[in-house]
Amino acid sequence: MEKTIADILEGYKKFRKKYAICDKPIMETLSSKGQNPKIMVVACCDSRVDPALILQCDPGDLFVVRNVANIIPPYEKDDMHHGTSAALEFGVRFLRVSNLIILGHSQCGGIENLLNQDNIAENDFISNWVSLIDIDHAHQHDVDSCAKVSLKKSYENCMTFPWIHERVDNTTLAIHTWFFDIKTAKLFDCRDAECKEV
Ligand SMILES: [Zn+2]
Repeated sequence: MEKTIADILEGYKKFRKKYAICDKPIMETLSSKGQNPKIMVVACCDSRVDPALILQCDPGDLFVVRNVANIIPPYEKDDMHHGTSAALEFGVRFLRVSNLIILGHSQCGGIENLLNQDNIAENDFISNWVSLIDIDHAHQHDVDSCAKVSLKKSYENCMTFPWIHERVDNTTLAIHTWFFDIKTAKLFDCRDAECKEV
């Protein structure tokens, strides 16, 4: 479970064998033809929730941005440094992905931080970042249900980006809100009030 640098370099050798040193090397094709992913994923940094592993994808399949608690901030065109918004712009406007998945998960440390106001003084960036999700603290004491509520908030924020809103309206972009349960390794679609397994 806890890999060393030597372990991951062994993994790198296997990766090279599968994707580079073979009859039809995917990496060479991706280099000559460029990337053309149809799916973008906004996922959490959590080490247990790797979209490419969960969805068994190859290089070139997913355009991914990961941040603490898989939050999509609102559209704010100013002089600040908006990493997640820049990734959204790249994926939606320039790569023209047709699906955007906001992937939440159980036991999210970022959401836990949001629910525990005592942590605010103990970190430089995390509490301020997760405060983008405006949760009603009186009603949301459960981390997982709060993570599901935050998916809806991220969806709403997503729609404040004019070029996302436009593409959703003309059906060239579909937005999905999914939730991954770590213990059971099951994936749920949270489009409706009750999340259903995909
Ligand atoms: Zn998380």
